[in-house]
Amino acid sequence: MQKAFDIGLDSLFAHKDAATPESCFIADAPQRGTFYLETFGCQMNEHDSEKVAGVLLSRGYRQVDSVEAASFILYNTCSIREKAAQKVFSRLGELRETSSEPKKIGVLGCVAQQEGEKIFHRSPWVNLVCGSASYSKLPELLEQLEAGEKRVTGLDTDTDETFETELTRRDNPWRAYLTIIEGCDKACSYCVVPFTRGPERSRSSDSILRELRQLADLGYTEVQFLGQTVNSYADPSSRKMKFSELLRAAAEMPGMRRVRFTTSHPRDFGRDIVEAIESNDRICNHVHLPVQSGSTRVLRTMQRTYSRDEYLEKIAMIHESKKHIAITSDIIVGFPGETEREFDETLGLMEAVKYEGIFAFKYSPRPNTPAQSMADAIPEEEKSRRLAILLELQRKIQTEANEKLVGDFFEVHVEGKSRRENQWSGHTSCYRVVNFSSPQSDLLGSYVPVKVNSATPNCLIGEHAP
Ligand code: SAM
Ligand code: SF4
Repeated sequence: MQKAFDIGLDSLFAHKDAATPESCFIADAPQRGTFYLETFGCQMNEHDSEKVAGVLLSRGYRQVDSVEAASFILYNTCSIREKAAQKVFSRLGELRETSSEPKKIGVLGCVAQQEGEKIFHRSPWVNLVCGSASYSKLPELLEQLEAGEKRVTGLDTDTDETFETELTRRDNPWRAYLTIIEGCDKACSYCVVPFTRGPERSRSSDSILRELRQLADLGYTEVQFLGQTVNSYADPSSRKMKFSELLRAAAEMPGMRRVRFTTSHPRDFGRDIVEAIESNDRICNHVHLPVQSGSTRVLRTMQRTYSRDEYLEKIAMIHESKKHIAITSDIIVGFPGETEREFDETLGLMEAVKYEGIFAFKYSPRPNTPAQSMADAIPEEEKSRRLAILLELQRKIQTEANEKLVGDFFEVHVEGKSRRENQWSGHTSCYRVVNFSSPQSDLLGSYVPVKVNSATPNCLIGEHAP
């Protein structure tokens, strides 16, 4: 059965237990066709897709969950590492082979920005190429396509606009993403983001808090503030709210139970953020603070703007907090010129910090970045060897840390139900995954106390506590 949503809603959600993409369309918009939207990459891309879907829905398109059923196919792409970028071209190749009827094809996001009009030469069946800094022009671009234009582009990065939509089609009915700062003004020598997402642009605190109020009214109880460097937030309005003040204000919003934020850049991470976390239990006790390398020399060539010691000072400040604050990180192995000793420094730093989770990557040379032409590339097998060592160490650290939590109680925000009877899963405030048993039904979206009975490196296992 198809369900229509009222256009007056400014946030739709779809969850496998709530509403599937097939059921999503706006009843009183002109009906234009169907779209399929696939997303690659980070949470910011996922949230951009939620907003892009909102734009399409409000223009009268209906969302479907297969390429075959769609008249308009969109890929929201990632180019942070080469493999991610390649995936998109293989998808575009598959489309040419499988598609018998004419469909419109759009490439959005970082690959669109990076490759630009070259995409039309490589895949002439593509109709729309649009980078994230031009999403606010999407309605115009769609209008041109609807009027019969064959190729349209939005590739400007010279903008001070943020992408705000009247309608966002959110995928998760309880935790909402909310981008507070777009783009990046840092210049890490390995990274395509400043090039593909443009300069830093912060949303005004009023508009963020307005959206947050709407989210609370719609029943969301958890929000995750997003930004490539979320803590570099600079309120463009006369209120000039600091990032930590924004966190405190968000935590006061009636109905909101958890406020998360990611990703924090070490340079802009100050004590005021720790104090905000200490001040209110609704601000989650988790900080994602990517280090990238434990070697000051490598950090300098990465242009990360901090040394090993400066990073460790920030960690000490977090560790000294009166509240336990979980720290997670991103690490790159095999950056050009990284010696065995420098790699050991990264391992040493991991031992010192005891991250509660990491994302680790083999360095991938990217177009338009200074690191691409750096000497002393590390061979692929060596990068793989270092990655395996690093992951093994992290596994050990997480195993030890999680085992210490056996017997403890956590409040879990329940976000999943297993196919196995009475089994549920969710996250703690410090973003640990907890799988637990409960005889109760209808726990999805609720917050429940859980006693931890055992642990694996990646999750805690427990039971619903009285
Ligand atoms: N803005 C965040 C920061 O400064 O930490 C990270 C954003 S980036 C989308 C996510 C992660 O991808 C980075 O932290 C880095 O570890 C990794 N990454 C970025 N460029 C990379 C590259 N060329 N090769 C390998 N990993 C890369
Ligand atoms: Fe990329 Fe560095 Fe900006 Fe993060 S801070 S998005 S790694 S340039």
